[in-house]
Amino acid sequence: MWSRSSSSTTGSRNCWRPLVDAATAATLAAVVKGRVGGFLRNVYEIGHAGTCDVCRGPSAGSAVCGQCSNARAELNGLMCDHTLMLTYAQGDNRPYLHQSAHLMQTYKATPPVQRSVDDLRLIVNIGTLLHGDCIRQELGHLWDSVTYVPSSRGRQGDHPVQQLATAVRQVVDPAAVQRFLLDLGPGYVPGCTRVRRADRFAVSDEWQGAVRGKHVLVVDDTWTTGASIQSAAAALKLAGAESVTGLCAARWLKWSWPDHAALLGMCTSDYDALRCMVREGRCLVGRQP
Ligand SMILES: [Zn+2]
Ligand SMILES: [Zn+2]
Repeated sequence: MWSRSSSSTTGSRNCWRPLVDAATAATLAAVVKGRVGGFLRNVYEIGHAGTCDVCRGPSAGSAVCGQCSNARAELNGLMCDHTLMLTYAQGDNRPYLHQSAHLMQTYKATPPVQRSVDDLRLIVNIGTLLHGDCIRQELGHLWDSVTYVPSSRGRQGDHPVQQLATAVRQVVDPAAVQRFLLDLGPGYVPGCTRVRRADRFAVSDEWQGAVRGKHVLVVDDTWTTGASIQSAAAALKLAGAESVTGLCAARWLKWSWPDHAALLGMCTSDYDALRCMVREGRCLVGRQP
C-alpha cells in the first residue's frame, strides 16, 4: 500500500458515504473508552478559548500560541492549513510516569510494543471514522494523498506511524487516494527533531503528481513542538500542494510547565471518541443516516 512507486490506483472520488449511525458510533466509542479512556484525554476543539487553534496547547488570550506564531514566521507561512489532534498525552507527571506517556514511549520503543501501536491505531481509526463528516465540513474537501512524517531514527518505511496513517478513515477515498513516502531533504540533520525548515523533508520527483495541486494529509504520532510536521507541511507546500492537513494522534503536554499543567488540570474526563476534535458545537456524529 505504501510505496515509493507512483503506480497507485486511481478511481472515482464519489464513493464516499457516511458509514456510522448513532448506535454504532456509541458502541465504537465504548470500545475505545474501555481500552484507553482512563488515561487519555480529549483535546479541546478548534476555536476553544484559551487553546491554540494550531496545536491545541495553551494560548493565553490569542487564537494561536507564541510557538505556532514563530513557526509561521520561520517557515514563511508554509504550514499546515488545518491541524487535527486526537488526544492529550501527559508528560512529566512526577514522580510516576503517566500511563499516557508510557503508551507513547512504548509505541516509540525499538521494537515498538504492538499493543501501544494498536491503541493509537484504534484512536485514529475510530476518531476519523466517527468525525469524518465534521472533518470534511471543516476542510471542505477529501484528501487526495496521504503521507506521514519520516522517522528520525532510520526506520523509514516500517515505522509504526505508517500504521497510523493507514488507519485514517472516511475523508480519504480508498479507491483513489495516493499513499506516498516523504524523502529526507538536504536540511535534515539526524536527531534534530525541533528544527523548523522547509528543506528537512522533500517530495521526490516521482511523487510530484501526488502533491501538486492536491489536498494532502500528513500524519504524525505526537505533536510536541510541531516542528517536524510543520516542516513536512512546508516541503509539501513547496512541492505545490493545494492544501496540507496535519493529523497527530497525541498532543504532548508537560505537567512541569505551568500553562500546560493548568490546561491538563481542566481535562479530567476520560477520553470519549464521541466528543468532537474539530469544531465545538458543530459535531455531526449520529446525524447522518
Ligand atoms: Zn500552538
Ligand atoms: Zn465531530
